[in-house]
Amino acid sequence: MFILRCVKRFISYLMFVVSSPFVKREKVGLKNLSFEELNIKDSVLSAIYTMGYEKPSPIQKETIPLILSGRDVVGQARSGSGKTAAFGIPLVEMTNIADRSVQALILTPTRELAEQVAREISNIGRKRGVRVCAIYGGMPIEPQIRRLQGGVHVVVGTPGRILDHLRRKTLNLRSIRVIVLDEADRILDMGFIDDISTILFFAKNRKQTLLFSATMPYEVINLSRKYMKNPITVKISQDELIVKHIDQYYVETVPENKLKVLKRILNEHREEKILVFCATRRKTNHIAWKLKQSGYFVFRLNGDMTQSQRNWSLESFRKPGSKILVATDVASRGIDVPTTDLVVNFDIPRNLKDYVHRIGRTGRFDRRGKAITIITQRDHSFLRKILRTNKMEKYYFKK
Ligand code: AMP
Repeated sequence: MFILRCVKRFISYLMFVVSSPFVKREKVGLKNLSFEELNIKDSVLSAIYTMGYEKPSPIQKETIPLILSGRDVVGQARSGSGKTAAFGIPLVEMTNIADRSVQALILTPTRELAEQVAREISNIGRKRGVRVCAIYGGMPIEPQIRRLQGGVHVVVGTPGRILDHLRRKTLNLRSIRVIVLDEADRILDMGFIDDISTILFFAKNRKQTLLFSATMPYEVINLSRKYMKNPITVKISQDELIVKHIDQYYVETVPENKLKVLKRILNEHREEKILVFCATRRKTNHIAWKLKQSGYFVFRLNGDMTQSQRNWSLESFRKPGSKILVATDVASRGIDVPTTDLVVNFDIPRNLKDYVHRIGRTGRFDRRGKAITIITQRDHSFLRKILRTNKMEKYYFKK
């Protein structure tokens, strides 16, 4: 297993070196550009300002001009860096409003992310009249078909359901201009590679392919080499596994006392919006139920729930006010609730990548965040692994 992993890493590195001449890498400059200087239409500018965006983030500054110039772009930036608007703004800008056929298709790994990306692009394109539709499994297909028949400019969806529509011919990509693979590393992690290849075949008329990914494993580089035309890579984060803008703490206890410790943490953060991660679906149900019994304002998010229930939980958590969401890793992938104040790891995650992903649900964009991990004696080796790359301190209760 270990040898296999080493060989894979070595191949990944080799591919990266070999691919360098083909994939140009763009150094992030220190340009102090404003949105006005990015040559964006007034209607889009006005929508962005209404959303509260004052200046472009580094990934936006770098990628928006490249996408507007028609280049294929590989964006390496973690979720929370403003990457949705980095491709959303130029997509809206380039849409031909008079033509009601699908001009842009965005593929996301999860349903929640599809919903979130569709919402953000819809907000950016509101004043221009861009019609956006989210399409994913777990929801009835008929309303989606009606929506598509009514004319949509931008479709955001998960690979399985998109393919389903393509095969039924209820989604037509004849006029497609751009295709975006959002969180490509996660799409591939989830085993969607064949679906992606088929969708890219359906979208062969496209002029541009964009790929966004937090990490660049061999599979992602391979995808970009196979399906993109002379792409420019824009790399923003130095190391995906180092998180500096989140204050990280741990509390040690014995397994029987974990719930008690969780309640103490929640009591000390009463005014906050808190995301609690558990290892399994059953555990989320159990912990949410126990907290509810003790009078906490709690929602759940896990794969056992129907898609409508999941959407409802996330929407309720998103609304202003302090509340708690108890979730599994899978269900919460890519979720963006910018006002999340605290992440609590009730159970430790499977690996460092998942840890960084979990705590990244707080400290979105340029905010600071806080994360507390509850550990027991058997989690010491995981704690050491985190401490190798991240600063983490012992958490002391106030009383
Ligand atoms: P993302 O990386 O796309 O998930 O974005 C993370 C969060 O940053 C989202 O809540 C966005 O609405 C927000 N955001 C994106 N761009 C900007 C910007 N230029 N200024 C302020 N907030 C932004």
